[in-house]
Amino acid sequence: MAKKTETLQLDRVRNIGVAAHIDAGKTTLTERILYYTGASHKVGEVHDGAAHMDYQPEEREHGITITSAVTRCPWRDHLIQLIDTPGHVDFTIEVERSMRVLDSAIIVLDGVRGVEPQTETVWRQASRFEIPRVIFVNKMDRPGADFDRAMETVAAVLGGSPVPVTVPLEDGMVLDLIGEQAFTFHGQLGSEVRSGPIPPHAQETFQRHRETMLLAAAEADPELEELVLEEEPIEPEAIRAALRASTMAGRIQPTFGGSALRNWGVQPLLDGVLALLPNPLERPPAIARRSDGEETFVEMTPEGGLVALAFKIQLWGGRRHVFLRLYRGTLEPGQMVRVAGRDTVERVARVFETDASSKKRLKSATAGQLVLISGPRVAVTGDTLCDPDDELILERIDTKEPVLGLAVETESSKDEEKFLQVIGKVCEEDPTLRFGVDAETGQNILKGMGELHLQIVFERLQREFGLAVRAGRPRVMTRETIAGSGTSDVTINRLLSLGEGKEQRLHARARVAVRPRLRDAGTEIAELAPEIHPAGAGLSAAQEEAARAGLTDSAMNGPAEGAPLQDVHVALTGLELFGDDSTPQAIRIAVSQAVREALNDGGAAVLQPRMRIEVVAPDGNLGSVLGDLQARKASIMGQESSMGMTVVHGECPLQNLLGYATSLRSLTKGRGQFSMEFDRFDSM
Ligand code: GDP
Ligand code: MG
Repeated sequence: MAKKTETLQLDRVRNIGVAAHIDAGKTTLTERILYYTGASHKVGEVHDGAAHMDYQPEEREHGITITSAVTRCPWRDHLIQLIDTPGHVDFTIEVERSMRVLDSAIIVLDGVRGVEPQTETVWRQASRFEIPRVIFVNKMDRPGADFDRAMETVAAVLGGSPVPVTVPLEDGMVLDLIGEQAFTFHGQLGSEVRSGPIPPHAQETFQRHRETMLLAAAEADPELEELVLEEEPIEPEAIRAALRASTMAGRIQPTFGGSALRNWGVQPLLDGVLALLPNPLERPPAIARRSDGEETFVEMTPEGGLVALAFKIQLWGGRRHVFLRLYRGTLEPGQMVRVAGRDTVERVARVFETDASSKKRLKSATAGQLVLISGPRVAVTGDTLCDPDDELILERIDTKEPVLGLAVETESSKDEEKFLQVIGKVCEEDPTLRFGVDAETGQNILKGMGELHLQIVFERLQREFGLAVRAGRPRVMTRETIAGSGTSDVTINRLLSLGEGKEQRLHARARVAVRPRLRDAGTEIAELAPEIHPAGAGLSAAQEEAARAGLTDSAMNGPAEGAPLQDVHVALTGLELFGDDSTPQAIRIAVSQAVREALNDGGAAVLQPRMRIEVVAPDGNLGSVLGDLQARKASIMGQESSMGMTVVHGECPLQNLLGYATSLRSLTKGRGQFSMEFDRFDSM
């Protein structure tokens, strides 16, 4: 087979993500990276609503990044594949998905604020996936910015070990601690980097930070340690190698500084990405399960059967596409792939590389690459695509339960059908979004992770698909459990008309006992062992099945609002049979009704989503912000203040947080920040 394959030299690839608290400057930094690497020729500024990576109209309008976009940036004979991750907490699923397919990350900090609440979230996620990282301390142009203090917050709040590699000075200069030189940035958007000697006024700063860096490097390399202690000259390459080893082991985070907006310090960061972060071959092998349940390691190599993870489904030009990370083997257009664990083999129509909103067809792709494919209809986020004859399943990506719902209806009833079609596709793209019909009201309900999440979906329906839709008030999704134990004893005895004058009597009696279980223990249906009357009458297989069905029928929904039921133990304690009249149907109805009555007897308890919250407020407004949180029945768990701002940690029922972002803004004249994350369903 003499097909042309475009092989990728994996040791020259870096799959990286940029993650941070919202507004730290991820998008601005990414734009600069694209510009310097020639991946984009025009730099869009976020505040103009023209940034290259934030390509969905909703993202431009809200000035935030929602959809992770893969972009290729060639840099010094290497290929950096960049994934822009969203910062808003409503979209953490996107961050998780990206983390899963990244080999390393740049964590961006605001030079004035240091570590912020969401920096902690992304840091935790990166740690969970053992992602090596470097830090970029951005916004060093802002008054009050402090490089050393930002590093201190990384150590104090995150338990990290930041090690300086470049140091930004006040005058737009950056000290290169490894190469012992000073960089300045000139020309169009600072694209021309000049190097010179360390100026005398910066000697003290330089020496102090270089010492810190050398001591960190020495910890990874005894030979280097010797040289450092003897104050012998040290080869830059030896320092890089030592820092690289410690970074990949997760022991340190090399730290760079500057200002993306002022075109200051970004190129040395890119050099650091190449020098200090792992290529795909250097990552630990992925763990996969074979169809026989056996676990096995998947080495990142083009040899062997395909193993790829679908990490995102996206509509592209209205058509379904799948983003894949290739872990092993090669992929070509026309290839058949197995969707592991689903008994499906699908054909890959096209393979593309992507660059934010544009895509380019590829003749082939190999392990280590991030690609977009068209063709598969069954594969969804988290699925493994593999060789049809060699089934392997990579660990799935967690999806979270949506906690907020919005009734949606089309303005004109003739749009209804199109709406149902579109919403189906949109939900498939975003596993944190659910759509369904409320059994009681008959309304269409769209469920998501938070107000902003739903609002953005809503706007997309209008803009992208031209659907005129109306939304109701947001409604918090509830769960139910029971307050105490309950029992019931139900007899049914009625005539069922079979038509043509024929009748069948349905006669059965069931006793059920229910009791609450610990929160989040789940609902449990006891092994079927009822006391049966008349004694000695056994159950036929059909009757047994009917009894089980009766139990599960009614153990799905709670007694108060019919919300999903959780944390209840249900047991069928007794069953009385009346000869031929106790048909399977009679048993099912009696048992199901007995469960409902037992649940009622136990007493309904409605569970509401409780959110973990983090609120940042200027000290001057702290009193009113805390007062407002108390009125919302939030429990405050702790607070820390620094530099005139206080971070408040706590918990609050989601119900009381509707519209909170707006009221925080007005309480703090727009300076307050707020993030929340679902914690658990609990009673109010
Ligand atoms: P993201 O939310 O992390 O993607 O942050 P953005 O890149 O959207 O930036 C948030 C805001 O900070 C925008 O108004 C940027 O213009 C501004 N910004 C970004 N980088 C810098 C910087 O280095 N210095 C200053 N002063 N502002 C910056
Ligand atoms: Mg952004």
